[in-house]
Amino acid sequence: LERYEGRKIGILGLARSGLAAARAFAAAGAEVLAFDDRPEVLAGAGYRAGSIADVSDLALLVPSPGVPLTHPAPHPVIAAARIAGVPIRGDVDLFAEILGERRPIVGITGTNGKSTTTALVHHLLVKAGVDAALGGNIGRPVFELEPGPEGRVFVLELSSFQLDLCERLRCRVAVWLNLTSDHLDRHGDLEGYVAAKRRIFRNQGTGDVAVVGLDDAPSREVAYGLKREGRRVIGVSLDAAVPGEVEVADGRLIDAIDGAPIEALDLGALDNLRGRHNWQNIATAYAAVRALGLSPEQAILGLASFRSLPHRMEEVARAGTVLWVNDSKATNPDSAAKSLSSFANIFWIAGGKPKPGGFRSLRPFMGAVRAGYLIGTAAAEIAADLGDLAPMHQVGTLEAAVKAASRAARAAGGPEAVVLLAPACASFDQFRSFEHRGDVFRELAVAEAGEGGAG
Ligand code: ADP
Repeated sequence: LERYEGRKIGILGLARSGLAAARAFAAAGAEVLAFDDRPEVLAGAGYRAGSIADVSDLALLVPSPGVPLTHPAPHPVIAAARIAGVPIRGDVDLFAEILGERRPIVGITGTNGKSTTTALVHHLLVKAGVDAALGGNIGRPVFELEPGPEGRVFVLELSSFQLDLCERLRCRVAVWLNLTSDHLDRHGDLEGYVAAKRRIFRNQGTGDVAVVGLDDAPSREVAYGLKREGRRVIGVSLDAAVPGEVEVADGRLIDAIDGAPIEALDLGALDNLRGRHNWQNIATAYAAVRALGLSPEQAILGLASFRSLPHRMEEVARAGTVLWVNDSKATNPDSAAKSLSSFANIFWIAGGKPKPGGFRSLRPFMGAVRAGYLIGTAAAEIAADLGDLAPMHQVGTLEAAVKAASRAARAAGGPEAVVLLAPACASFDQFRSFEHRGDVFRELAVAEAGEGGAG
């Protein structure tokens, strides 16, 4: 960043990533001008506040990924920078430039499973003895990472918002997990969303690899497009393995990257990453580390020791035959369906602030649910939509739900019973965030497990 010494740099949006970027530019001797729509944030940040009139003097504008570029309308500071011809680049793009050619980047994007896959790629690398750092959208802004020695691998979760702000980013391995229509509010339409995410493959050259999930139609299009351009693509599929691809068949991870398929692992034996969606994450992470040059044996070394991320089918406690699982991140019926199909014998805690659309889409996934314990605003609606398929108890609070569900799970005896928090709702009626909800659940579950153990 030394080339920005003495020059004016605009930082737009002072959340954690913006602050980390501001610090880095200030340390390099640049003059940082801060922009944020929240006056109290601006005042507290300790940087000179910029105004629209300052924008034309900037050498560079670094917006937070959350700032609207086009939809519904460009932020006024973005609009002013465009008119003045000020370069607009995101933190990831700038950091990638600092890393240079000798510190490879594994970039990971997709609609679902990004954080899990990113954390898993990092874990697999570390367990195989590779110097690797983890950051990006996963909660660690890139400017909080140390570039470190040459050869260090940077595993970065990249949202479409971050990719929108990348011009020069080059990924040694670019991972595209899947694509469903999400976040269309910001990109306008599916095409805009695909275009933003496709930027992950930009600037890739010889020696670089694209790892692409093949299980949805838009992603297959992307893979074929890249192949037509002559790029090196490793496809990942839960269906059919073609040479050059990785697949999961009957719960077995099959590696056909080098031609003849070999069985790398029986995924059914892993209880730390359950469910078909996690098979996609595992197969994709495996393909990514293979693309970096790990052998099949090295690539699977870390699989069994991976711990799921907090709030994503996180096993928080176990006592006797009862397992408590925190999937607070399941904030809509779609993602709750994934947990409901990943366990048997479920005592299900759900509810919160409902999203439009109701809960009837969960009907096909109720087979393993022994009873529901419903909390928050959505309780009555869930009971009305699903109450004929399993007994539904409207208990009001999470505390009451954990108590009642744990008691019933213990009484069930027999095979493993799972007390599962998979709310299918947002948390904001009773909690600050899904993390807060999950933390409260974890505490209650650990206490319940302690009592169960003592009794
Ligand atoms: P992201 O970072 O893309 O939001 P996470 O890894 O945090 O994804 O997972 C969030 C939720 O998305 C999980 O709890 C699960 O319900 C669902 N999920 C995870 N992986 C996948 C996948 N490969 N396909 C579909 N859904 C997934």
